[in-house]
Amino acid sequence: MSFQNPVFIPGPTNIPEAIRKACDMPTLDHRSAAFGKLFRPAVAGVRRVLGMEGGEVIILPSTGTGGWEAAITNTLSPGDRVLAARFGMFSHRWIDLCQRHGLEVEIIETPWGQGAPVAAIEAALKADTAGRIKAVLATHNETATGVRSDIAGIRRAMDAAGHGAMLFVDGVSSIGSMPFDMAGWGVDIAVAGSQKGFMLPAGLAILGVSDKALAAMEGARLPRTFFDFRDMLRSYAGGGYPYTPAVGLIAGLAKSIEMLEEEGLEAVYARHARLAEGVRRAVAAWGMRPCAASADLYSETVTAVVVPPGCNGTDLVKLAAEKYGVAFGVGLGEVAGKVFRIGHLGMLTDVMVLGGLATAEMCMADLGWGVRLGSGVAAAAEFYRGSAVPMAMAA
Ligand code: PLP
Repeated sequence: MSFQNPVFIPGPTNIPEAIRKACDMPTLDHRSAAFGKLFRPAVAGVRRVLGMEGGEVIILPSTGTGGWEAAITNTLSPGDRVLAARFGMFSHRWIDLCQRHGLEVEIIETPWGQGAPVAAIEAALKADTAGRIKAVLATHNETATGVRSDIAGIRRAMDAAGHGAMLFVDGVSSIGSMPFDMAGWGVDIAVAGSQKGFMLPAGLAILGVSDKALAAMEGARLPRTFFDFRDMLRSYAGGGYPYTPAVGLIAGLAKSIEMLEEEGLEAVYARHARLAEGVRRAVAAWGMRPCAASADLYSETVTAVVVPPGCNGTDLVKLAAEKYGVAFGVGLGEVAGKVFRIGHLGMLTDVMVLGGLATAEMCMADLGWGVRLGSGVAAAAEFYRGSAVPMAMAA
């Protein structure tokens, strides 16, 4: 049977048919005016989704990891110090990437399940009287634990410390699904990927770069070639790319933004918040809890569900894939086995999420976890029924 279930991993996400069709296009000359007609609306749309004022959008044929690398190599020099909190697999990987590039990372170790610690960031910046810290790195939505960090709070902490460091934000699993305000939060580089909130296949790193980061680019000495913003911006000025762009994905990006704006960004964010709340109600009905330590930290795009003692979250993920053909996310790093993750971002409706929750319950019953079939589904359905937005997706 070749029917396809929706996926419930926190990216790549389900691809709407309209986006799939937009990506599937005949070859066109990327040095022709036809490419500019695709590219310009995509760039303008990214500016709106990120909430940018000034600066530049850079769209690289890469993934989120390439976006991290592009952010640091274009703005920093060997031996520069950056400040970062480590509280999950993705914040860890960005730190590791910086270290491998010869940066000195001042790490604030933070328990997994917590977010970026605003007070500790402020204290570290206040202590840096010599101004050695060139950038603060923040993971907006830690996909491993389902934790959202307070980026506005980090900006306030930076201002309170009177520190001039740049603020780089990983929004790979939040942008396009949760509110993001690059200008309002004073973000200098925002990193997104095509395969999450934008509902595209993987293959694009999408960055917003502030004027301050562009000024830092001029003096930055870390090596870069493929990811060099300067080449990119020179080529953009002529309407093109320094190399062959991922034309189909860029066409899909323009379509994605059209779809997000047709629904309305606020409505998109509200839909994600509702879907997430329904999932959390199901989790509570199962007698379990999210890995995120408190309600203010709950992610609207992914819930890492802490499994009962003696149970292994990876068993559920394996069984769901093998028996029911449904994908959930495994626990990563420190929380491997201790959680399983339900991705609830991108092209999803109440009804689709209920199917995912029912599948998780069937697996729990199969595994003898003592969860009553229908308990979580009923709690989520009760919530969705009471807060439904009529046909939001079909509008
Ligand atoms: N940052 C976050 C928060 C992520 O969730 C991911 C991937 O899941 C990445 C970065 C890495 O992105 P990619 O896998 O597209 O390289």
